[in-house]
Amino acid sequence: MALRRDRTHTETRTRRPRSEAPAHPASTPAIELRSVTRSYGRGAASVHALRGMDLVLPRGGFTAVMGPSGSGKSTFLQCAAGLDRPTSGDVLLGGESIAGLREDRLTELRRSRIGFVFQSFNLLPSLTVAQNVLLPQRLAGVRQDRRRAQELLTEVGLPEHGDRRPGQLSGGQQQRVAIARALITGPEVVFADEPTGALDTRSAHEVLGLLRRAVDVMGATVVMVTHDPVAASHADRVLFLADGALVGELHRPDPQSVAARMADLTTSSFPVRQYAGSAA
Ligand code: ADP
Repeated sequence: MALRRDRTHTETRTRRPRSEAPAHPASTPAIELRSVTRSYGRGAASVHALRGMDLVLPRGGFTAVMGPSGSGKSTFLQCAAGLDRPTSGDVLLGGESIAGLREDRLTELRRSRIGFVFQSFNLLPSLTVAQNVLLPQRLAGVRQDRRRAQELLTEVGLPEHGDRRPGQLSGGQQQRVAIARALITGPEVVFADEPTGALDTRSAHEVLGLLRRAVDVMGATVVMVTHDPVAASHADRVLFLADGALVGELHRPDPQSVAARMADLTTSSFPVRQYAGSAA
């Protein structure tokens, strides 16, 4: 297995396909949001889904994002991942501003430099498991690295499953394939949107362990939106959103403290004051 537990092993920590490898100084954050707002609609009827978010996500970290329904989690994820454009402000991926990029450049960037894991797995049923893992490379128009796909399938505990179809796998296994797919391009950030939302407790635990391992062993950067305090406790840091603003954070979280903070947010009266703490 090419992956090692040694976090200082630079070859494994920086491994990515040759074609799209911007080299950043170690200090460059994976993602930075600068005064990001996102509003829907106009005038009196407009909804301010994000109200000016400043945030630095360092590389090699596992961040969970939580908040009550309607607090702006999805909008945050969409803007941070380049799937949606902020109304104002800027998002930087590896130090590069993506706010002003043309649509085709943005698509290219998403394909080659960002990995996605969705609640509903989003595997293509007509492709084999191995073909699904290789799909981001195919779409990005780079060489499909079958050996790497097999390594990743081994890493997620499915070494013998490459020739099967997603429909022959359990939900937990499909999500593990989705994690392998998200990692195939060696992305700078993996965004996971409720990755355990459709899974039983045991499969959820396995999936969270794999995301944790991607960070610890492969040096990946993971940002996960979740409503589950247990899932969030696998992260290094939990960010709390309310009413479109960052209102707090917890480092080295445990499920009880996350649940307590969430209970506070759900019962507190709005609008919540903008969090004035460290955004780094
Ligand atoms: P969360 O993911 O935390 O539930 P969202 O980011 O989905 O929150 O939504 C934040 C706010 O923005 C909510 O008030 C929601 O109704 C609103 N919103 C989200 N998407 C749209 C949209 N496409 N059009 C209008 N309002 C939207």
